[in-house]
Amino acid sequence: MSQTPQMTWKCSNCGYTFPAAQPPEKCPSCKEKCEFLDATCYTPDCAGPGQDPRIG
Ligand SMILES: [Zn+2]
Repeated sequence: MSQTPQMTWKCSNCGYTFPAAQPPEKCPSCKEKCEFLDATCYTPDCAGPGQDPRIG
């Protein structure tokens, strides 16, 4: 069994981050329908010039 590929998403409204295969329709934190930013590289293992510029 292989792991389901997961990405990390960040709510553009409240900043809540969570792992999921794809962004949900509504943020589990603020319950709003938000834009979710791909924050998959927002980890120490992946830090560097390739980090998503939309984060931080
Ligand atoms: Zn939110």
